Amino acid sequence: MSKKDYYEVLGVNRDASEEEIKKAYRKLAMKHHPDRNPDNPKAEEQFKEAKEAYETLSDGQKRAAYDQYGHAAFEAGGMGGGSPFGAGGAQGFDFGDIFGDIFGGGRGGRSQAHRGADLRYNMEITLEEAARGAEKQIRIPVMEECETCSGSGAKPGTSATTCQTCAGHGQVRMQQGFFSVQQTCPRCHGSGKQISSPCKDCHGTGRIKKQKTLEIKIPAGIDSGMRLRHSGHGEAGSHGAPHGDLYVEIHIKPHSVFQRDGDDLHCEMPISFATAALGGEIEIPTLDSKASIKIPAETQSGKIFRLRGKGIKGMRTHTHGDLHCHVVVETPAKLTDRQKELLREFETISQNDSERHSPRAKSWMGKVKDFFAQ
Ligand SMILES: [Zn+2]
Ligand SMILES: [Zn+2]
Repeated sequence: MSKKDYYEVLGVNRDASEEEIKKAYRKLAMKHHPDRNPDNPKAEEQFKEAKEAYETLSDGQKRAAYDQYGHAAFEAGGMGGGSPFGAGGAQGFDFGDIFGDIFGGGRGGRSQAHRGADLRYNMEITLEEAARGAEKQIRIPVMEECETCSGSGAKPGTSATTCQTCAGHGQVRMQQGFFSVQQTCPRCHGSGKQISSPCKDCHGTGRIKKQKTLEIKIPAGIDSGMRLRHSGHGEAGSHGAPHGDLYVEIHIKPHSVFQRDGDDLHCEMPISFATAALGGEIEIPTLDSKASIKIPAETQSGKIFRLRGKGIKGMRTHTHGDLHCHVVVETPAKLTDRQKELLREFETISQNDSERHSPRAKSWMGKVKDFFAQ
């Protein structure tokens, strides 16, 4: 059934004034009023037709939309494609649909539906847990639907009513010059509802803060700053909109022995002055177990021994990093008289051929002398 043009229905020109439209409507309403035409079934239809045309053209916003889009402006809404309209008339018009999904869509299509907020949870784990993977339980605060009022926000036994200011749209349109601007309804703050006796548990918000326990699977090889997404575990959405997501952000606690750099591990390896000079074998810890390193004679501070594959197996690379052991030659401390005596003797003997025994010190001394001689 194709609908007649509204201007045609009222018999006015496209540029008719508000007054002309009103007059035309009154005339038609009187003529076709069902009370006056009890024996004419067509009269009621014509009466409704005129009423619909008037309700559209007498409203500045609706008229503008009709001028631009025709009947299509309203058909996408609650009209159901030209089905008989209720006495309310305006009930069938849903402006949201002509301007896209600005009313938030959703069931009912009127009140604002917001996807729940995403949550971030900062999780501290040990380096061992990061390397091997772990399962953890976390408790997160979430806004859930209030059970007392089933999320309506109204005290049990009462119910929310449609907001009068925005007629349940949650949005109001304000004419600003040529444009009409959409704003969140100041009265209901976008919910489209009014609650006269709010639920005591949620204070009318329909939502309540709760603690939720979640199992978090931490994959092996994860690194600081990486995030695990748990979709749908964020806050509850409003008016039936989906939940947000939960992001678990990983922070690895400092380790007493190892520093991590990507999939590689670094550690400091203090060795005694004698071991450094004479060489030896040192047992060092790795993340999994132990390893031994052969220290060659005359090892200097700062030398790095690399143990291949003793780092962390990367979460994405699936290959093991390396372990880098940084040698620190430790100066002996808290010496006994006997130890001091031996060291002095050692020094005396060494000085006879210092160029051989301490090549770096010797060359450095030479450079310093040259510098002062300039
Ligand atoms: Zn409640
Ligand atoms: Zn409102």
